[in-house]
Amino acid sequence: MRIILLGPPGAGKGTQAQYLVETYGIPHLSTGDMLRSAVAAQTEIGKKAEALMTAGQLVPDDVVAGIVAERLERPDCKTGFILDGFPRTLVQAQELHKILRAAAMPIDVVISLQVDEHALGNRIEGRAMEARAAGREVRSDDNPEVLKRRVSEYNGKISPVVEYYDSLGLLHAVNGMGDIAAVSSLIDAILSSTRFSINSGQQIADRFK
Ligand code: AMP
Repeated sequence: MRIILLGPPGAGKGTQAQYLVETYGIPHLSTGDMLRSAVAAQTEIGKKAEALMTAGQLVPDDVVAGIVAERLERPDCKTGFILDGFPRTLVQAQELHKILRAAAMPIDVVISLQVDEHALGNRIEGRAMEARAAGREVRSDDNPEVLKRRVSEYNGKISPVVEYYDSLGLLHAVNGMGDIAAVSSLIDAILSSTRFSINSGQQIADRFK
């Protein structure tokens, strides 16, 4: 199963991705995590990304598409993957399309987690508190000012991505306001029906049109 999870910061993408990793045994590809590792390791990409991330701004499309392309080549992606936090712009969606077409690996389903924007602040605050309690470092962008910027970046750039996947018939909106298990079961229902339609045999070449 090749899955894209869309949703603003704090929508629960990471939590649901974890559930999908355990249920389907496919890897979780979070561009935020990849970029944070690059920052921690102070690679060239990490150095370019650091200030933008701390300010809640997007890292350039070509940089992010490059790290995703590299990650998708790894053998664990052959049976599927969950993309979290990518694509975030139409250019990234188009780049992803090219990468996946070359690999004959079409996206099966796009899940868009819908959340009330007022809840996002509380969720991010909860995430920071959990990290503190567990003795982990709090993300430098998990604070109210930067969150505002991240949500506005998300909202400003995601509409064409949503429209793009909708036009391909891949988009499913999911109410992300329930508890974790309730949201997971909504996603499960979508994945079951997606799996059924994939198995009913459309050719890969047709799925790239
Ligand atoms: P996230 O963990 O998905 O909330 O991402 C944290 C930060 O990493 C974002 O605020 C951006 O600065 C950067 N980032 C993650 N994914 C992308 C992406 N697809 N395009 C551009 N920047 C990204």
